[in-house]
Amino acid sequence: MADAPAFEFSRIPHPAPVPGATRAEAIADPGFGKVFTDHMVSIVWSEGRGWHDATIGPREPLSLDPAAAVLHYAQEIFEGLKAYRLADGSLALFRPEENARRFNASARRLAMPELPEEAFVEAVRQLVLADKAWFPTVDGGSLYMRPFMFADEPFLGVRPAKHYRFLVICSPAGNYFKSGAPAVSIWVSRDYTRAAPGGTGAAKCGGNYAASLVPQAEAIERGHDQVVFLDAAEHKWVEELGGMNVFFVFDDGTLITPPLSGTILPGITRDSLLQLAREEGLRIREERYSLNQWRADAASGKLVESFACGTAAVVTPIGRVAGEDGEFTVGSGGPGQMTSRLRERLVAIQRGTAEDTHHWVTRIG
Ligand SMILES: *Cc1c(COP(=O)(O)O)cnc(C)c1O
Repeated sequence: MADAPAFEFSRIPHPAPVPGATRAEAIADPGFGKVFTDHMVSIVWSEGRGWHDATIGPREPLSLDPAAAVLHYAQEIFEGLKAYRLADGSLALFRPEENARRFNASARRLAMPELPEEAFVEAVRQLVLADKAWFPTVDGGSLYMRPFMFADEPFLGVRPAKHYRFLVICSPAGNYFKSGAPAVSIWVSRDYTRAAPGGTGAAKCGGNYAASLVPQAEAIERGHDQVVFLDAAEHKWVEELGGMNVFFVFDDGTLITPPLSGTILPGITRDSLLQLAREEGLRIREERYSLNQWRADAASGKLVESFACGTAAVVTPIGRVAGEDGEFTVGSGGPGQMTSRLRERLVAIQRGTAEDTHHWVTRIG
């Protein structure tokens, strides 16, 4: 709280921004995660001073001491959220204060300093405004915002670092899937887990992703799109995908999703869909669901749909599930009705074509 005045951002306009024609070409078909805008936000934290030197300046390579703690002990956390263009042309963020809150929860788990939530949201907002000329021209595009923090103190002793950087970068993103995602096939990992009780599963940290790359590669190698993880203790309960939460839809109007028991990332898409599903009259159950039950319910027809969800792809139907002991199809094997309905309701709120009764949308100009 004492550092509130430190969040006056000083502005350093890019001396040589990307030429308009090059930018126009890049934002016509940006794909995901490979085009970046001209600017970035940077805020520094050091022991004793707290947060200081908040700037919006040119996006440029970082200079890091080779002993920087993040390079050795992986003290790093991140967030991912999108700026959308509303039907009336203005830009907006979707529940950014929830990202700010989760960022601080991740910071606490990784023994890093917390950033005041207003500073987090303001940093994202300012960067969107600075680089709004980069908003994709492709239908359904967005600006994907990536706030992150890492330890840059040069020290090889094992303890929380005394110096950190908070950055936000911005990446124009295309429409993941034009009219709803096609159903994906997922691989149930037997040899690997994502998170153990007491570990970092509920924190959005790079380390979790590093550990998921081999199982994800295994899924691809076997001809599937994504990996799904079971719990580490009993190897029985469905937890989530590498970067998406998972839901199960039943023929009697029940919706199940695994509970936030500490090993699952508390997705903001997950939370939003739970609220929308409740309004749709679905019976919500946040409880454990086993792989065996999933298979049995898919076979009996009790389970009619499954889907994964997250900011990047919104909602992705799961059509097929495969593991070491065979595979099964969910429902028709294609996108299900409730999956499509929930996706459309959420997208309509995000794009301002449906009324924002939850006050989830923050206009930013
Ligand atoms: C980011 C993330 C999600 C999805 O969270 P959203 O807030 O919905 O984008 C789900 N699982 C993992 C492991 C994640 O890192």
